[in-house]
Amino acid sequence: MIKVNGKLKCSRCGYREEDAGKGMEESTVENRDGMFPFSEVRDGQREFLEDCREAVKNGKHLIAHAPTGIGKTAAALTAAMEDSIENDRVTFFLTSKRSQHRIAVETVKKMDDRRIRLVDVISKQEMCPREESKMPYPVFSKICEEMVKTGKCEHYRRNNDEVVSEIISEPMHVEELVELSKRYGVCPYKVALTASAHANAVVCDYTIIFTDLSEKFFTRMKRSLDDINIIVDEAHNLPERLRMDLRSFLSIKTLQEARKAVGEDGLMAGIIRRIENGLE
Ligand code: SF4
Repeated sequence: MIKVNGKLKCSRCGYREEDAGKGMEESTVENRDGMFPFSEVRDGQREFLEDCREAVKNGKHLIAHAPTGIGKTAAALTAAMEDSIENDRVTFFLTSKRSQHRIAVETVKKMDDRRIRLVDVISKQEMCPREESKMPYPVFSKICEEMVKTGKCEHYRRNNDEVVSEIISEPMHVEELVELSKRYGVCPYKVALTASAHANAVVCDYTIIFTDLSEKFFTRMKRSLDDINIIVDEAHNLPERLRMDLRSFLSIKTLQEARKAVGEDGLMAGIIRRIENGLE
């Protein structure tokens, strides 16, 4: 990028800072390029779109660094969704920001294609309609797990077929999914997971793919890693974000269990007891 009259300009593709957002009017299905949701694919954006299509077609990784406003999200989603529809695959749009969830869902909505089945999902705690969701995460998580196991969460127990079909029939934002689930008195997170088995687009957090949550998710979806396209939004944040999420916590209870497992009297038990004392 170079600066011309104080504005950024790309010397390669000609993109200018002041062009951000231009050509972003909604397209009609007749005049558009593939599933691209806007009326005009700009020059720099066209190169990026073709690179995305190429990468998806050949199963390659593409790392893109381009200015805000060039339309990276629309181009990446277009290429990935074209492939998902054509080849019965699922596009995952991963982001840690709620604002990006909205943009991704809006972009897919504008593709205006009846074959799109989208699920927008955030964390279980953020989606949970129960009072218990206001508790700190480890407490909420344990309570939710117990209630599911013992059948005490009526939201989880209720049949959610109707809500699932509604979600699949029309792309909607996670807030709408939660509201709809509340109206039916069902668990929104369970609804999202069930609906994902029918989806060809999922907007979710990085953790769904990059932690052991992925196993649960893929089992529900009856899919494997080979069946998906992944778009990582703001991928430069990914390593730090995953390090934060995958931190381990050592509790006294875990240490007590470890002490029992190694036998109370051995050297290891002594070391564990000392750590326990320190924590206490
Ligand atoms: S099962 Fe769903 S509704 Fe019930 S506590 Fe867990 S997240 Fe909340």
